[in-house]
Amino acid sequence: MRPWLGPEEAEAAAAAVSSGWVAQGPRVAEFERAFAARVEAPYGVAVSSCTTALHLALVLVGVGPGDEVVVPSLSFIATANVVRYVGATPVFADVEPTTLNLTAATIEAVLTPRTRAVILVHQVGTPADLDAVHGVCDPSGIVVIEDAACAIGSLYRDRPIGADSDLTAYSFHPRKVITTGEGGMLVTTSEAWAKRSSRLREHGMSLSAEARHASSSVVLERYDEVGFNYRMTDVQAAIGLVQLERLDAIVSRRRELAEAYRARLDDLPLAGMIADPPYGRTNYQSYWIELSDDFPVTRDALLQSLLDRGVSARRGIMASHLEPAYAETAHASLPITERLTRRSLILPLFHEMTEGQHERVVAAVRAAAGSA
Ligand SMILES: *Cc1c(COP(=O)(O)O)cnc(C)c1O
Repeated sequence: MRPWLGPEEAEAAAAAVSSGWVAQGPRVAEFERAFAARVEAPYGVAVSSCTTALHLALVLVGVGPGDEVVVPSLSFIATANVVRYVGATPVFADVEPTTLNLTAATIEAVLTPRTRAVILVHQVGTPADLDAVHGVCDPSGIVVIEDAACAIGSLYRDRPIGADSDLTAYSFHPRKVITTGEGGMLVTTSEAWAKRSSRLREHGMSLSAEARHASSSVVLERYDEVGFNYRMTDVQAAIGLVQLERLDAIVSRRRELAEAYRARLDDLPLAGMIADPPYGRTNYQSYWIELSDDFPVTRDALLQSLLDRGVSARRGIMASHLEPAYAETAHASLPITERLTRRSLILPLFHEMTEGQHERVVAAVRAAAGSA
């Protein structure tokens, strides 16, 4: 991944610096409104990362010690870590091999009377089947929190991911589709949750710094509960406002490049390749392929052979339950997760990728597969 940044972002950041408002201020408020409108959500709360957005979501729901939260093991480790931050227990569920996502069936298999929430990841931007997941969770009062770190610009049944959602968290890390350097956003349909998370990200302060500066009479802030410092800065928000305008162009270019990969790699011995699910549209945040048992070399040998040809690819999505940090966490067997993390890899894909670069990647994969 290479972020698509131009002089417009540099100018917007410089304007924020010149204004004197460098911490959370008017540009953060504007970015929140613009982002929420873009994903058709009533409220957006900008924070320092997707990880901190997910942490706040669990605090809002009231998840704590003794509670269980269902998460995919096949995800960036932050998805599981946030459950540990609130003292609850992550329960790993398996994923389906076509979307890499949890399903109603894999969730249902691990539910217990202690399940309070599910963190549903839209992995690498591929939407999970929200209606089906709500179908198993809603009757038991289990809250579905969406980890849309990678899914800005993806659609579920023609609506943006995050529309009409209880709680959805996004990331603006440079590895994702649009970036603010570091940053995140929590969107929600609940006015109460939006207000409380705005306070929680600012040490639990009853009144923002911007509101105090704007007031013509003296106002003293109050601290009703213990909060965090999870603020985004106005310099980041200024960049984010420009990036948001590039989103449509980024997603359509990613979809073109992804279609070209599919056409040029389809005949190789692969077990799977990222594609749109029948109910939605992916932004192709990452282009993953899964090698079949007939592929002539192992996944790691393929990565090395690509690197030898100057192509920097990456292993597929990690499996959190295989990391030492989760060695003590009990889990059911996760055969699809384990196969995917061993057999898949991610090919280069970025907005400014040239035709020549695309051809070089394809040629390097085909050479390693022995079918140049
Ligand atoms: C990147 C990522 C995160 C973490 O995002 P940050 O903004 O870096 O905190 C969480 N979940 C998933 C699925 C991710 O891909």
